[in-house]
Amino acid sequence: MIIFKKAEDISRFIREKSVAANIIGFVPTMGALHAGHVSLVDMSKHTDALTVGSIFVNPTQFNDKKDFDKYPSTIEKDIDMLEKAGCDLLFLPGLTEIYPGGTKTETHYDLGYLETILEGKYRPGHFQGVCQVVDRLLDIVQPGRLYLGKKDYQQCMVLKKMTAIKYPNTAIIIAPTMREPDGLAMSSRNMRLNEEERKLAVKISSALSFIKKETRKGYLEDIKERAKQYLVAEGLKVDYVEIANASTLEPVENNNGNTPLVALIAAFVNDVRLIDNMLL
Ligand code: AMP
Repeated sequence: MIIFKKAEDISRFIREKSVAANIIGFVPTMGALHAGHVSLVDMSKHTDALTVGSIFVNPTQFNDKKDFDKYPSTIEKDIDMLEKAGCDLLFLPGLTEIYPGGTKTETHYDLGYLETILEGKYRPGHFQGVCQVVDRLLDIVQPGRLYLGKKDYQQCMVLKKMTAIKYPNTAIIIAPTMREPDGLAMSSRNMRLNEEERKLAVKISSALSFIKKETRKGYLEDIKERAKQYLVAEGLKVDYVEIANASTLEPVENNNGNTPLVALIAAFVNDVRLIDNMLL
């Protein structure tokens, strides 16, 4: 695996290699890697001639500075994992490499309704930051395929919207959520949980499984409410428990039985905020 720290160097390397864009797979991450990230690299390895990973903890997508400061970093282990997974190139930029003109930007991404709900509502500015960094990374790497995890369901929709206009030659590939044996969705933030908190964190996926089991035709409000009460009773602080149209993310109150649905939860275990979702 070749590690690049400069945007210009990795761009030039890719150009000089003359690797056609449609055979480059790109897996952007914020590091603190786990098997979920590796599954994206595996998918790319399967399809693409060249797999490029990146590790950059993007400050502009953190609406909470404490969350940014406490974001786990395990860079040596990450490099080892990527190497073992067969990643070909790793882009490991510093802040000024991604934002040479500073982090402030004039660009506003028109995300419409998507930015006003769920993560967009609870983390103001988050998706503008996500688009800002992915826009920059795609401009540098110019991949044919961008690999994203379904774990970040709304992020996948946001990035589909952003790339459809700016990067029409980049296909988005969405990988299933990798889970721990007890159901907890793998996440870098899980590293911040102590033993007791780890036991509470699994309640999020239990609540999603409960919703999936209970969902019938008709009104869904009571199911949402019961899932929420369950989490609160266990000691979690809930941002949202939502059941939405899986294609648009519009909340669905009354299930007509024909619309694909997704349940989404964001909740805090003490000060660690976790998200997860499940197709119903
Ligand atoms: P992050 O490092 O959290 O920004 O995540 C980098 C990529 O890995 C994103 O596309 C995530 O959706 C994806 N990802 C994170 N957790 C998982 C998981 N448990 N299973 C599959 N993909 C994941």
